[in-house]
Amino acid sequence: MQAELRQQRVELFAEVMLAIRRSLQLKEILHTTVTEVQRFLQADRVLIYHVLPNGTGKVISESVLPDYPALIHLGFPEEVFPTDYQQLYSQGRVRAIADVHDPAAGLPECLVEFVEQFNIKAKLIVPIVQTLKVQSNGQFQLPPQSPNHLWGLLIVHQCRSPRHWVEFELELIQQLAAQISIALSQAQLLEHLEEIVEARTAELQEANHNLQQEINVRMQAEAALRQSEEQLRLITNALPVLIAYVDNQQEYRFNNQAYEEWLGKSPRTLYGQHLQQVWGVECYQRMQAQVEAALSGQGVTYENDIVLKDGSVRSVDATYIPHRDADKTVKGFFCLISDISDRKAIERRKDEFISVISHELRTPLTSLHSALKILATGRLGTLSSEGQQMLGIADDSTDRLVRLVNNVLDLQRIESGKVVLDRQACNAANLMIQAAEAMQAMAQQQGVALVTQAADIVIWADIDYILQTLTNLLSNAIKFSAAGGSVWLTVEQEDPSTLNPQQSNSEAVFRVRDEGQGIPADQLERIFERFQQVDSSDSHKKGGTGLGLAICRKIVEQHNGRIWAESVPGCGSTFAFTLPAFYQDH
Ligand code: ADP
Repeated sequence: MQAELRQQRVELFAEVMLAIRRSLQLKEILHTTVTEVQRFLQADRVLIYHVLPNGTGKVISESVLPDYPALIHLGFPEEVFPTDYQQLYSQGRVRAIADVHDPAAGLPECLVEFVEQFNIKAKLIVPIVQTLKVQSNGQFQLPPQSPNHLWGLLIVHQCRSPRHWVEFELELIQQLAAQISIALSQAQLLEHLEEIVEARTAELQEANHNLQQEINVRMQAEAALRQSEEQLRLITNALPVLIAYVDNQQEYRFNNQAYEEWLGKSPRTLYGQHLQQVWGVECYQRMQAQVEAALSGQGVTYENDIVLKDGSVRSVDATYIPHRDADKTVKGFFCLISDISDRKAIERRKDEFISVISHELRTPLTSLHSALKILATGRLGTLSSEGQQMLGIADDSTDRLVRLVNNVLDLQRIESGKVVLDRQACNAANLMIQAAEAMQAMAQQQGVALVTQAADIVIWADIDYILQTLTNLLSNAIKFSAAGGSVWLTVEQEDPSTLNPQQSNSEAVFRVRDEGQGIPADQLERIFERFQQVDSSDSHKKGGTGLGLAICRKIVEQHNGRIWAESVPGCGSTFAFTLPAFYQDH
């Protein structure tokens, strides 16, 4: 009979254990424990007293028959639950008191009073000791205070009468306390895992939120970029010029629509293509020097001829503007090409017109000039002194007109490219002497001393054209000198690298210096353009045409030389030009 009862109780106990283990929530575990233990032991009250780390505590779960007062949330006073009790319990002490009033039970007076308040006649106290604790990283660890940490007490009360606690019951309750301890650890672990999951979820949500914000910002930036790109394309596509950006590998990175219209190449096909691929070898050779100059950081503007998709040749004006980054490194250049074919055609027609007119003028002018000369001889009758005077004026004017027509024709011929220079090796000294001799009479007439400092430098030049240049400059120098002044004609061989670092061959520098009125600094460039004179009355006073320096410049440039003027107003001017010196390869 005893054995059968025992068996029944073991089975009941197994059920209690199962019920406890089924739950992972701490509150639920405790609730199941008190209810099941009360049912199992048929006790009047079962409670769980939780001990906090500071030694205080309170009842956190209770199952009590309705006839008896509830102790839930009650904290035990210090005197009924002193620290030394706690230590004993943490070492596993189990207290089974059959009758609280029995002196053999050895309960102190205060405790007897305390239990009497709640009708307690017998009690059983089993410690719930936690041997394992969950760490913040989710791992189990032994509690730090002592190997056995007193988490709480499982307390059973009998109120209606004293009760003798059977050894078997004690054993089972102790086992139950051990199971509760494990269940507690698991519940704590679960709670901890939930906390971690919650924290991680919050972190992920935060990261997700930030990512979303970043995506939004990027999308906004991309949309703004697309819009500004569209606007840029709209503007550049509306312009009837070629607009591009070329990188420092000479590859296209941006083109406007005009490239498609002119060359039949869309911006998409041009992207990443090299200049030579796009323009062909011949055209690329004509632009290479300028491209290299732009990529070395120099802004350039030049004229070129290009072939369009329909095969027509157009004259264009190209401007390259270097693009530098913050460190001043050239990353590429902006390129602007405009069609100047119409302007060129007008210029050509104008030149042709001038040429035809000048030719037509020349024949009657020559006859006029000859007729005036004959009249001046007096062979056709003697003129009054007023008539002679008028004849002199007419002769001077015709002279000027002949010079003007000749100059216009000269300039037009050189500019049209029709002139083929007959270049040969010649001694600079000979040219200088010839030019000085030609101007000697004029110098004498003006009372100006002409000083020639010739040097034997062999140059590579067209003799007639260089003589024309020298005489033009000498005539100006004499014209603009006061009587008694001097004009110097000199030549020197220069170290080209000091004048122009890009020039590798040596050159001769001719200089015509005078002590005349001089030229203001802002006019020094301008006077080399057609019909530009410092003082517009010069043409009348000095008999000039305003074309002499323009002709000189064209001649010198045709020889690959340079011409310029230096002056100190009131002290005189120096006109200088360079010509390549002769070397064997010529
Ligand atoms: P022009 O036939 O008028 O001399 P140029 O083209 O030879 O035409 O010269 C243009 C202008 O440059 C002159 O009208 C004059 O104003 C100025 N000029 C040229 N040479 C000198 C000089 N040696 N001294 C001062 N002014 C000069």
